[in-house]
Amino acid sequence: MSEQYDVIVLGGGPAGYVAAIRSAQLGLKTACVEQWINKQGKPALGGTCLNVGCIPSKALLESSQIYADTARGLTEHGIEVSGVRADVAKMVSGKDKIVQELTGGIEHLFRANKIDWIKGCGSLLSERRIEVTDADAAKSTYQAANVILATGSRPIEIGAVPLHSDRIVDSAGALDWESVPEKLCVIGAGVIGLELGSVWRRLGSEVVVLEAQDMFLPMVDQQIAKDALRQFTRQGLDIKLGARVMASEVNDGVKLQYTDKDGEQQLQVDRVIVAVGRRPNIDQLTSPETDLLIDERGLVHVNEVCETNLPGVWAIGDLVRGPMLAHKGSEEGVAVAERIAGHHCHLNYDAIPSVIYTHPEISWVGKTEEQLKEEGRDYNSGVFPFAASGRAKAMRDTGGMVKILADAHTDEVLGMHIIGGHSSELIGHGVMAMEFEGTSEDIARSVFAHPTLSEAIHEAALAVDNRAIHIPNKKRS
Ligand code: FAD
Ligand code: NAD
Repeated sequence: MSEQYDVIVLGGGPAGYVAAIRSAQLGLKTACVEQWINKQGKPALGGTCLNVGCIPSKALLESSQIYADTARGLTEHGIEVSGVRADVAKMVSGKDKIVQELTGGIEHLFRANKIDWIKGCGSLLSERRIEVTDADAAKSTYQAANVILATGSRPIEIGAVPLHSDRIVDSAGALDWESVPEKLCVIGAGVIGLELGSVWRRLGSEVVVLEAQDMFLPMVDQQIAKDALRQFTRQGLDIKLGARVMASEVNDGVKLQYTDKDGEQQLQVDRVIVAVGRRPNIDQLTSPETDLLIDERGLVHVNEVCETNLPGVWAIGDLVRGPMLAHKGSEEGVAVAERIAGHHCHLNYDAIPSVIYTHPEISWVGKTEEQLKEEGRDYNSGVFPFAASGRAKAMRDTGGMVKILADAHTDEVLGMHIIGGHSSELIGHGVMAMEFEGTSEDIARSVFAHPTLSEAIHEAALAVDNRAIHIPNKKRS
């Protein structure tokens, strides 16, 4: 038996590394077990998010948007450009540099906070013991007063379309292509499918997205989702709903067979991205010895404060219920560390924002109109289109809208939904309003700088009460 810790965190992604840092800040002797080996063959912290998720995908989304704007979008500003060329290999290596800087930054924070990084694959044993197998297959065992499980998730694979080196890849593979496929199929019109499909579309691929469900973005307010589908289609993403892939065959590209409402279809493409969801990494956590409770969806079962069924064993991030989002996992990490240290903590699961980083970005917090209808709740709605925003006009980026849903009796903000450029930066207004149990009137009475995109939030709040200034209002009843 080797060292004893107050806290051992298993997994160094945004849930785990944040839990480790907060634990150490609170004076707890902390270690974090992480096994990730990066593209350069070196151990790395940061998990999916920093290595193959949030950060690299946003780096490529940013670079590809600048390319698309420069190649096709500047004429409206009176700027003529010619000879624009994308150096995709350079984009990818630029993305790699950002990843290395950020993951190195976490390593630095671990040193500054005196957190021991135990490199290797950890398994949960009984009585809060962790066995770690290092790169040389040597095993060590560690004991902790508290164990925080944060082993994250990995892509789901589908039998009909098995991964195949460069031709059929998951989300991580699609971040490393150094050439643009002429014809690309994305399987799954979820968050990853739309973001990565957009990257390669902007760089010139012909993109077909096959989505099994008939409904587009069912988790998004449907007024927003309909607008998104229209805008994405106009950008050239060929999104086929109700399309079930039955088989695939690798030839000089990939031949796909799928069925839709019109029957059996075939599609020949150069490459395929499979983006049909993610599943939790529980293999090293479950053994008859540990008896860790797993729920019906394969996630580690936790209560509302992230305690598992085992005393002193907590679980956070993609491993447990709730949206698979980096910031959700990080906040759970903070809350669990604080609870272990005997502090009060608070995490409002009703006010966690979501963003799809397409163009336009789709951002939301709280309930959709469909959810409120299903709950039978009385609500008022206010909508303001960016087409009526002076700043959006100046930016030549007028697609989309802000929608606010407020309780019909108390006026409390129940949801904010935005489709539009930079909406990821705007949705924080909705989070703050909901966190402080604010009303649409509170937003309406706040002063927003002119001209800004955020004025659309002000106007949507005014529209809840039919008194928006820059659009005609609904008739008062
Ligand atoms: P992970 O980040 O998966 O980290 C878990 C860590 O545990 C990994 O480093 C893994 O190596 C380690 N581990 C697993 N098992 C063991 C073991 N037995 N021993 C030791 N270590 C182990 N979310 C957002 O909020 N915003 C975004 O923009 C966004 N974009 C994304 C884009 C893509 C392409 C993908 C794939 C995901 C994206 N996500 C985004 C989701 C986000 O990455 C995850 O929600 C987040 O990383 C989950 O954090 P986590 O710490 O729970 O798990
Ligand atoms: P997702 O659940 O968002 O989307 C998967 C889509 O694939 C769904 O629409 C589903 O109906 C479809 N699908 C499933 N099986 C299929 C099949 N056989 N054929 C065709 N379609 C099929 O999952 P994802 O896009 O893989 O993302 C995984 C997780 O990562 C999400 O939970 C998301 O929250 C997170 N993520 C977040 C961000 C962000 O915050 N911007 C970005 C990327 C990923």
